[in-house]
Amino acid sequence: MMALDVAQENVKELVDGLNFAEKVERSLSLVRRAYAVHGDRLVVANSLGKDSCVVWDLAKRVSPTIRGFIVTTRFKPPETKAFMRQTVAMYPELRVYENDAAIEEKLYETDPDRCCDTLKVQPIRRAIEEMNVACWVTGLRCTEGRTRTDYQEIEERDEGLVKLNPILLWHEREVWEYLALNQVPVNPLYAQGYRSLGCAPCTRISAGGDERAGRWVGTSKCGGECGIHTRPLKTNFQI
Ligand code: SF4
Repeated sequence: MMALDVAQENVKELVDGLNFAEKVERSLSLVRRAYAVHGDRLVVANSLGKDSCVVWDLAKRVSPTIRGFIVTTRFKPPETKAFMRQTVAMYPELRVYENDAAIEEKLYETDPDRCCDTLKVQPIRRAIEEMNVACWVTGLRCTEGRTRTDYQEIEERDEGLVKLNPILLWHEREVWEYLALNQVPVNPLYAQGYRSLGCAPCTRISAGGDERAGRWVGTSKCGGECGIHTRPLKTNFQI
């Protein structure tokens, strides 16, 4: 694993102990140091959400040649698909992965875990294998919701695959602050009130403290995870 002293610090204290500028510098430093170790095998997982937009912008500041991948599904809203086309046109170093396999009708209602596993987790595994990824960079933040409180900035949940969460410490408002100050384009769905974006059947506009409360409403997965941050990703290959 990449040697980095910051991993031992108390995440909860830093979330409110660092100011915005300190967080930006810390995030840039994390990406810079990881890129120095992993080079072209550092790849950004860009979900096209607001957090990914920040991470992608930070990565481009570190090196314009850093690559990324987008996982999309047949159920993404038209606005997200249009935003994806615009983003990929601007950054051809982003590769798009999608699983076209046949699945049962309304699997997202009957078994959302299997639906996410098929449509999201499997393509991510393929991206990691095909792009020869040693370090994947995500937009995960520990203040997003009940399922995201116990992560670290640098992790190795899969052996031989480092996961870097460079904006782990950021609050939601700091994400918007960064995007506004740096004039980074975002998915137009945010203007309608969405706070966390996913597939159309599984995403609602929500209010209140939990940013991910609008995800998988009415299912056991409500406010939860699609599995990319919880399931093994490196099962089919060895480095
Ligand atoms: S978010 Fe919903 S539609 Fe999208 S993959 Fe998961 S369960 Fe299926």
